[in-house]
Amino acid sequence: MDVVVIGAGQAGLSAAYFLKRANLDHVVLDAYVGPGGAWRHRWPTLRMATVHGIHDLPGMPFAEPDPTAPANEVLPAYFADFERRNGIAVERPVRVHAVRDHGGLLRVETDRGAWETKALVNATGTWTRPFLPRYPGQERFQGRQLHSSQYRGPEEFSGQHVIVVGGGTSAVQQLLEIARHATTTWVTRREPEFSDEPFTPELGRTVVAKVEERVRQGLPPRSVVSVTGLSLTPAVREALRTGVLDRRPMFERITEDGVVWPDGTHQRADAIVWATGFRAALDHLAPLHLRTPGGGIQLDGTRVVADPRVHLVGYGPSASTVGATRAGRAAAKEIKESLSRREAA
Ligand code: FAD
Repeated sequence: MDVVVIGAGQAGLSAAYFLKRANLDHVVLDAYVGPGGAWRHRWPTLRMATVHGIHDLPGMPFAEPDPTAPANEVLPAYFADFERRNGIAVERPVRVHAVRDHGGLLRVETDRGAWETKALVNATGTWTRPFLPRYPGQERFQGRQLHSSQYRGPEEFSGQHVIVVGGGTSAVQQLLEIARHATTTWVTRREPEFSDEPFTPELGRTVVAKVEERVRQGLPPRSVVSVTGLSLTPAVREALRTGVLDRRPMFERITEDGVVWPDGTHQRADAIVWATGFRAALDHLAPLHLRTPGGGIQLDGTRVVADPRVHLVGYGPSASTVGATRAGRAAAKEIKESLSRREAA
């Protein structure tokens, strides 16, 4: 192969589209059974009205969706249509276990055999690596603990007391839903920042530039909310007014039936929802030793500085639908140029 693409979410499909146009011999591998990337697995109450806005896949405008339709149906259908129209034959389900250097080529090892390739586009997103911080006593808690990615809707918490941990958009969205069925406590590490600045293209560029700078230095990327603040939507304003969004600082430890703050205050709880984000799903690249001492992977554009055969798309500054589409195009262009240079040499 000239190129193996791992992942058929927005980033991987965009890369495949541009690799095809560049006439590069490639294969797309994806671990899921059907199209849609991580959108297949978003919680059912995430509606098109509550996602931030979906950028088009290349050459195929995303039609204005029904705002009440679930994102986990609308996006997989859009991706399936894109694959069909563009003749992108994704090999699925194929899970990549490891990518190793193999005499100048890269060997991509999977549960369905191995591929050898000159270049790799890694588009594995973050969904499969939910991040859960450790707190003392966590294992003793008798109630339910779940990560926001396991949330399926608020009804199952009816009549309970639920602690939601996390300062991001998922935390706020799930808290607002749960608070209609249960009593809640919201806990965040840092004081949350709210913003009523509209998400303009200029703000988007500023955010991307800030995350890009970290990645250029080889530091782990930060989440977009840490740069923009939480959007002051009408629902968020109302929740601030009614006290649902009265935030408490992080607790110190977890007990059998709740949590305790450093001043000894105890809050009883039936469930703790950890809306504490994700990490990039890159374990399969470990044999290539791409990480810097800063803990991140240093990129120049989409190209990994430590191994220029490898491109990361949907990572750091390109971890949004707009960023993913653009990164797919950039990776295909850079690979085309570098393979042409290699052939000419
Ligand atoms: P994914 O969609 O996660 O796709 C990764 C693919 O890689 C998957 O199909 C998976 O099967 C595959 N894969 C992973 N590991 C392996 C492996 N080892 N072997 C083989 N295949 C593998 N962005 C926006 O722009 N607008 C929004 O409104 C928005 N809302 C969001 C809401 C939530 C709750 C979350 C968590 C994110 C949201 N984002 C939003 C971010 C956005 O969804 C992603 O940044 C974007 O979809 C990029 O997708 P991706 O292609 O990088 O990854």
